[in-house]
Amino acid sequence: MTFNALLLTKADDGTTHAAVTALDEAQLPEGEVRVNVAFSTLNYKDGLAITGKSPVVRKFPMVPGIDFAGTVAESSDARYKVGDAVVLNGWGVGESHWGGLAQQARVKADWLVPMPAGLDAGQCMAIGTAGYTSMLCVMALQAQGVKPTDGPVLVTGANGGVGSIAIALLARLGFEVHASTGRLDEAGHLRHLGATEIVERATLSAPGKPLQKERWAAAVDSVGSYTLANVCASLRYGGTVAACGLAQGMDLPASVAPFILRGVTLAGVDSVQAPYARRVEAWRRLASELPLDLLESNTETIGLGDAVTLAPRLLAGQVRGRVRVDVN
Ligand code: NDP
Repeated sequence: MTFNALLLTKADDGTTHAAVTALDEAQLPEGEVRVNVAFSTLNYKDGLAITGKSPVVRKFPMVPGIDFAGTVAESSDARYKVGDAVVLNGWGVGESHWGGLAQQARVKADWLVPMPAGLDAGQCMAIGTAGYTSMLCVMALQAQGVKPTDGPVLVTGANGGVGSIAIALLARLGFEVHASTGRLDEAGHLRHLGATEIVERATLSAPGKPLQKERWAAAVDSVGSYTLANVCASLRYGGTVAACGLAQGMDLPASVAPFILRGVTLAGVDSVQAPYARRVEAWRRLASELPLDLLESNTETIGLGDAVTLAPRLLAGQVRGRVRVDVN
């Protein structure tokens, strides 16, 4: 049986080439569960893989796609049977193991979670790894005891996948949400998601003082670099920032002042190797707490081949919200 996949190959000059290619089921990597993929998505990391801008792909040829939703086509694992609806995020899929930007995937049963009740495959991938990471960030803040009465919560990279879903989640949970963005023309969309104040990205992205005016009780940061340093310096006493991304940069040019003088907590969030129970909890909460009516207006749906042209635009911060890929 053949199926279509986005296949990445590396040329002799080191450049990455991406093309929709017909593959045979026998070429799929090993795993206990084969999945008929319904939807995948285009995440920041997929953009890096497809463009070759950063060496996230560990071996070639590679099918990118760090997430997918679909139904089980074949399973040798007792936990999954044919027809079960499943979701996958991370675990190196799309980096070292063929991923979701394909009509078929074969993966380890341990990597899957059952699709949460209340969401279909299209909705799951309108959320995608970015949205699932937003929920992990919210859970990290709540684990530190952050609550709406503490004060406003800042979301950086607001128009991105992580940022947009984080705004919708936090607003739904009753938080006052401030959204930092470089795209002030999208302020209307951010307010529609639930933000009440828009912060200009440039006020946070340049080098700043080690301690600044106490503004936010907490933050979700998908940007890193100077932005994260300035966020730490601007948190209220005892505040927490959930840090998950590096859209501005991987560096963290900060001082210890916010930690030792204001008791600020820097909570790191990883979605790729998060344990099973935390994944299931995140997806359960997404199904019950994310306002689903906001999902579609935050999502652009494309085909497999379109991922190649959209990837550089995503990395350039020109894509609003989430990109869902209909692989069929
Ligand atoms: P997106 O590209 O969708 O969003 C990133 C957003 O960051 C942009 O939309 C833009 O928002 C802002 N941004 C872009 N460039 C810059 C810049 N130079 N300086 C400041 N802000 C910038 O990506 P995702 O939301 O999917 O992912 C965001 C980050 O989170 C990525 O670094 C990704 O790798 C990381 N991530 C980490 C995960 C984990 O497990 N830890 C899981 C998922 C994502 P605006 O236009 O509003 O300013």
